[in-house]
Amino acid sequence: MNIAVIGTGYVGLVAGGCFAESGNDVWCVDIDAEKIEKLKKGIIPIYEPGLPEIVERNVREERLTFTTDFDAAVKKSLVIFVAVGTPPTPSGAADLTAVLNVARSIGRAMDRYKVIVVKSTVPVGTSEKIREVLKKETKQPFDLLSNPEFLKQGAAVEDFMKPDRVVVGADDVRAGEILRDLYAPFVRTGSPVLLVDVRTAEMLKYAANAFLAARISFMNELANLCEEVGANVDMIRKGLASDSRIGPAFLFPGVGFGGSCFPKDIRALIDTGRQHQYDMKILEAVDAVNQRQAARFGEKIRKHFKDGLRDKRFGVWGLSFKPRTNDMRYAPSIKIIESLLGEGASVAAYDPEAMDEAKKIFGNRIQLSSSNYGCIEGADALLIVTEWQAFRNPNFDRIKAVMRQHVIFDGRNIYDPVQLRQLGFAYYSVGRV
Ligand code: NAD
Repeated sequence: MNIAVIGTGYVGLVAGGCFAESGNDVWCVDIDAEKIEKLKKGIIPIYEPGLPEIVERNVREERLTFTTDFDAAVKKSLVIFVAVGTPPTPSGAADLTAVLNVARSIGRAMDRYKVIVVKSTVPVGTSEKIREVLKKETKQPFDLLSNPEFLKQGAAVEDFMKPDRVVVGADDVRAGEILRDLYAPFVRTGSPVLLVDVRTAEMLKYAANAFLAARISFMNELANLCEEVGANVDMIRKGLASDSRIGPAFLFPGVGFGGSCFPKDIRALIDTGRQHQYDMKILEAVDAVNQRQAARFGEKIRKHFKDGLRDKRFGVWGLSFKPRTNDMRYAPSIKIIESLLGEGASVAAYDPEAMDEAKKIFGNRIQLSSSNYGCIEGADALLIVTEWQAFRNPNFDRIKAVMRQHVIFDGRNIYDPVQLRQLGFAYYSVGRV
């Protein structure tokens, strides 16, 4: 099948690569000419395990093409996926500018029947807006489908290749069947393709993210209370996780969730509620607890350094919003580092993949170190902000040898409090005393 994927970001690039991997001819389109130039040279702009191999193979075998030529890609394709960003507006509503611009351009470029598939996360009712835009621009027939994406950054290729489920929102069953065929190679082991109406598909994506975010905020709230009452959130988590009605996923407390999805998607769902005069009370609390969580981490630091943070030096391990990605969009590390800098502290940081992104955000305001040990030389405290695998079993003697003071604030609970205290560290974590 001939496919165009509009938007070559975390979702579009993975989707394009994986559709090509299953034999389709795919044109990946982006307005960012620099990004397309890099991709043409084989430079992958994001860190995503397994993706470079897939892109390289499919470009070599001429199934995957990167282009800025929107019209040509649309004309060649039967199915056109829209995978551009839907960032938050100040009110929390999703910004649909890019999606509607793309719809306009597709409408203008269409020369025959097309199946247009919205993969971007968009609020309920967006497909109707897209349909109106398309109808203004073209007399050609089309079907408009919703196909929200559930991949996780850091495991995106694996998730796309073996999804738990594929959701297809189609008001016309025949068009839905085209997508069912396209996804058939990915669901051979029996994962369901849920064929639903478009509004339900749009809502389902927000429901999934809101539910996962709620689990994290719930655990953060429990962890905070554990600190107050002297209970251990690790054991609470294990106790909950072993209950088959609850399960183990998304129960880890920490410094709050970030990334380009959870924070914006819960706010967009709250906004949808507001537009229908319905208060999403649980989600408002999920958001508020999350905002408080990074601030609470800062309070622990301030409480330890009673004489203030001015001229203190902090080493930060982990900058990306979660491990196995270079993405720093809405990463808790940004809030934490900004608040330290704001109080006159100096910061050195290390991340296995997000150093280029960090440079764009902080410039020369923090020192970017080439190793995790280098970043804590002369530090008054080490902050664990992202739980990369490489931080889990460090050489604590080496840490002690290079730090000025032996203090660790572990925002991800990756070390054992008893062991760390035995080693002579002042050690703070989340929900464990
Ligand atoms: P991204 O910012 O990484 O990529 C978006 C791309 O679209 C950029 O490369 C941008 O240059 C391009 N673009 C913008 N306007 C364009 C236009 N008019 N024509 C062509 N290209 C254009 O975004 P992302 O993280 O891939 O997310 C895309 C959508 O998928 C969002 O709605 C997001 O909520 C959703 N989503 C993201 C994830 C994730 O893990 N990142 C997971 C599921 C769903």
